[in-house]
Amino acid sequence: REAKNKMPQYKGLERFKLLDKMGDGAFSNVYKAVDTTSGQRVAVKVVPQDQPLTADARGPSLFSRCICTLQDQSKHLNPQFKKRPRVTERANILKEVQIMRGISNPGIVKLISFSESEEHYFLVLELMEGGELFHQIVKLTYFSENLSRHVILQVAHGIRYLHEERGVVHRDIKPENLLFDRIPIIPSKHPVTRQYDEEKEDEGEFIPGVGGGGIGRVKIADFGLSKVVWNEETMTPCGTVGYTAPEIVKDERYSKSVDMWAMGCVLYTLLCGFPPFYDESINVLTEKVARGYYTFLSPWWDDISASAKDLITHLLCVDPAQRYTIDEFLAHPWCNEAPAPIPAPT
Ligand code: ADP
Ligand code: MG
Repeated sequence: REAKNKMPQYKGLERFKLLDKMGDGAFSNVYKAVDTTSGQRVAVKVVPQDQPLTADARGPSLFSRCICTLQDQSKHLNPQFKKRPRVTERANILKEVQIMRGISNPGIVKLISFSESEEHYFLVLELMEGGELFHQIVKLTYFSENLSRHVILQVAHGIRYLHEERGVVHRDIKPENLLFDRIPIIPSKHPVTRQYDEEKEDEGEFIPGVGGGGIGRVKIADFGLSKVVWNEETMTPCGTVGYTAPEIVKDERYSKSVDMWAMGCVLYTLLCGFPPFYDESINVLTEKVARGYYTFLSPWWDDISASAKDLITHLLCVDPAQRYTIDEFLAHPWCNEAPAPIPAPT
């Protein structure tokens, strides 16, 4: 047990006692830790400096593959879009830190502090005990409509804050970067049918604040690919006020629309348990994404409401000018449906 729990020691991180490994992306190791001076429990994201990094340790999850292609697509739509570099450059980390510093919202993981040693960068973050939405999808197979709404609305409010109030585009929205603040309470029995799922919700097991259970808060993490599309001082699109060229205004809209596409992928995946675009061949997959070729596959989608499908259709829309903005998303009827009321006993 000792050996299994042995945590690495990082020079420059003596103030924190590392407790557990929370996750590893391709670019970092994230640990659960405790600040020995205050006793505060935190997450520490350790990023090696200027070392070529290995490919994602988890291998190509279905969703990662789907999103990879999404990034290619956004590169195609917006030439300024860059893939995450193979090597961590200081400027990139500082940008991630600077963007996170300007952000304060219940839908977004907080950056507590940042430091660096000769070999590593350390981002001390608000601890998200519940881990990735990705793992919950794998565990539950899929989410009922009410639960999906509950999750995606929290993400949407975070995105709205980023897009509308901070002028930030995240550009890496996916279930691996959406985290639960505490371990969600999930049914003890595998939810074989959607009906079973919904019964559980009616008992208040999923919805926070009801019945003592719940899934808590979902927050957006990982600003490693994010970008500011506004001038932070004037709060206007980048470029001089009044002299902003149409392509800059368009660029801002196109950049934001990348997050909306990703939200469509996440919502689709929540509702049925598999991503909208997938193919064994990366070339075929790229082609499917570029054409926006996906279907509401039977029988998985048979019982899902027309309203949910309509919303997804407006997100997985190839033309970014036609794609819903965050405000259009939030105004859609599906987002404003209250969960079905508990039927009165007869
Ligand atoms: P990368 O840039 O390498 O993808 P992330 O910031 O996405 O780094 O972190 C990698 C993984 O670490 C996440 O997918 C998640 O599992 C875990 N993680 C990240 N931040 C936190 C946090 N604040 N609390 C708990 N786990 C986290
Ligand atoms: Mg990540």
